[in-house]
Amino acid sequence: AIDFKWIRDNREAVAENIRKRNSKASLELVLELYEKMLAVQKEVERLRGERNAVANMMKGKLEPSERLKFIEKGKNLKEALASFEEDLVKLSDELQQEAQSIPNMTHPDVPIGGEDSSAVRKKVGSPREFSFSVKDHLQLGKELDLFDFDAAAEVSGSKFYYLKNEAVLLEMALVNWTLSQVMQKGFTPLITPEIVRSSIVEKCGFQPRGDNTQAYSIEGSDQCLIGTAEIPVGGVHMDSILAETVLPLKYAAFSHCFRTEAGAAGLATRGLYRVHQFSKVEMFVLCRPDESDTYHEELITIEEDLFSSLGLHYKTLDMASEDLGAPAYRKFDVEAWMPGLGRYGEISSASNCTDYQSRRLGIRYRPAELAASTNPKKGGKGNLAPTKFVHTLNATACAVPRMMICLLENNQQEDGSVIIPEPLRPFMGGMEVILPKH
Ligand code: AMP
Repeated sequence: AIDFKWIRDNREAVAENIRKRNSKASLELVLELYEKMLAVQKEVERLRGERNAVANMMKGKLEPSERLKFIEKGKNLKEALASFEEDLVKLSDELQQEAQSIPNMTHPDVPIGGEDSSAVRKKVGSPREFSFSVKDHLQLGKELDLFDFDAAAEVSGSKFYYLKNEAVLLEMALVNWTLSQVMQKGFTPLITPEIVRSSIVEKCGFQPRGDNTQAYSIEGSDQCLIGTAEIPVGGVHMDSILAETVLPLKYAAFSHCFRTEAGAAGLATRGLYRVHQFSKVEMFVLCRPDESDTYHEELITIEEDLFSSLGLHYKTLDMASEDLGAPAYRKFDVEAWMPGLGRYGEISSASNCTDYQSRRLGIRYRPAELAASTNPKKGGKGNLAPTKFVHTLNATACAVPRMMICLLENNQQEDGSVIIPEPLRPFMGGMEVILPKH
């Protein structure tokens, strides 16, 4: 349930927010559709009232000629009502569709502007200085026999890959180690469906269709492949009212992610950096509205601890307003040093989506305290506090390909081997180093 009344009553603030975020959303059109819908709704209600009045009249004693008149009137009302009801459905659909593009409001601390305006929150470590010439992950992968991009290009297309040998163990180790770490912090592990209904993608604030969609649709169905586990996890509690006592709900979901990468031309694409399919562990939190800023801080701290444990050099950014995407109220990205690229590359993203997704997905909770305005002595359900929408947050715990780039490139040795970070070794049968194959 998008709060159109709130949008209308706060028209100036919403318009300013759209400008700040350089969004293409058309507030004028949304409000115009909303007003039209209200007018039609009013007409539908008026006609329903009239139809009921006629039906009541017909219950009483009537002259045959008068009864005929009422029958005729009832018939006309029914037809008019059907036509207005049809208009109402069409208008609501159009309104919902158009409202998809209206972005969430923005946290007051978010820097305003494009990518370059993002603010550095934290910097950990410094770029490793190499005393030998650095290889990128593609070169290392070749010498260590870790990937097969050529076979994948034949079998699937460009930007697909096979992982081989230690790379397979490394992916499994990264996923298992990450899950074991976040489980200790109270996250419930999940493995999600990887095909979802397009309507869920939309309710999470993504566009499942259109030229620029990141989603692969399944032909002949209303389903698509997920681009992130955030979508199926967001759907778990869809259309439900949670007890306040179960909050916060914290999940850590493993899934494969599928992305068309439409519009990615010109961006870094070599090797594993930008691929169509990858594995990821995603954290997802549902909480009370007054707690989402706190959980946002908790999520970014968990990410930073994970990356520090693996010995990465990284910086954390408070993303600028134009770089937030529609659902996020505030977003913290982590960028890690990638020696092969000779620059920082994004490895994770933590967003507070406030009630943007929960309103669309219908996820509410019932506050534990009784409503102040009702008399508890009277009993009944009148004394339950009204429901509220939860806030949702999502954050990458481990997106495997870019982690693999960081680990291979930063941990390479002069002899061509790659040292495995200590925390991952127990998950790789104690292996300490990946050796060149010839
Ligand atoms: P996002 O859900 O877009 O915030 O992405 C989360 C993380 O997934 C990013 O920080 C990257 O580490 C990783 N990622 C996103 N897109 C790709 C891709 N096409 N190929 C490899 N990794 C990706």
